Amino acid sequence: MEFRSFRLVGVTDETADVKSFRLVPADGGPLPQRRPGQYIVARLEGIERSYSLSGPVDAPYLEITMRLAGAFTRKMFGRKAGDEILVAGPAGRFLFDEAALKGDEPVFIAGGVGITPIMCMLACLSAGGAGAPAALVYASRSPKDIIFKERLERTRWPALKLVLAVDKAAPDDGWPGHVGFIDKALIESCVPDPAKGKRYYVCGPPPMVAAVIGALKGLGVPVQNISLEGW
Ligand SMILES: Cc1cc2nc3c(=O)[nH]c(=O)nc-3n(C[C@H](O)[C@H](O)[C@H](O)COP(=O)(O)OP(=O)(O)OC[C@H]3O[C@@H](n4cnc5c(N)ncnc54)[C@H](O)[C@@H]3O)c2cc1C
Repeated sequence: MEFRSFRLVGVTDETADVKSFRLVPADGGPLPQRRPGQYIVARLEGIERSYSLSGPVDAPYLEITMRLAGAFTRKMFGRKAGDEILVAGPAGRFLFDEAALKGDEPVFIAGGVGITPIMCMLACLSAGGAGAPAALVYASRSPKDIIFKERLERTRWPALKLVLAVDKAAPDDGWPGHVGFIDKALIESCVPDPAKGKRYYVCGPPPMVAAVIGALKGLGVPVQNISLEGW
């Protein structure tokens, strides 16, 4: 993969430990072509990590969104507009292609920061303007950890069923949504006929992805109708 220098043009606090970074080529050259679901590889001080593109694929910048975790994210969280980092890609096989749906309804299932490629896919679907039926089931640790809450409200369209779940909610959160992990019962309650005419896109931490795949198989969803990415 060939690395190019990119300049940070925006840093946004999404939650207490999640930030989005917008990047443009430092030499003013064109942005690379990208497809919803792809990721880039970022390099900073000799450390490389992969990050899914979270912004629309036709935006005049690349956007990545990361949770503070360890070596790379600690460095990145200290960066500000004007700083440069190296970027290679995009790449990846966790792709959303509206034409490939062939009439199937997309169902997106995300856990935590796994919402990033799915946010990009939703932006692509809403930009199509068709307002076609789709569903997003998105689990976060708590109501305060929901990444892109406002962006999701802005992006949503009437035929998009949006189900937000949290692992835990305190009584004073006043949380009106689901509490608990995404399981078979939750999927069944928000996706009618889950095994018929649906195409699933699942992204999140590996244990969550494994549990969701188990639930989908238990609901009779054919494996070829499931795309997944876990990290
Ligand atoms: C295709 C792909 C797309 C991805 N997209 C995203 C994305 O959109 N957003 C995102 O946030 N991440 C994404 N990731 C994950 C990302 O690449 C990094 O793995 C993540 O940001 C952590 O990197 P880090 O260097 O900050 O943490 P690391 O230093 O790699 O640490 C990772 C974890 O290990 C723990 N750890 C580190 N050292 C030790 C130790 N000595 N003992 C015990 N525990 C330790 C840390 O606390 C942390 O929880 C993606 C990964 C892939 C493969």
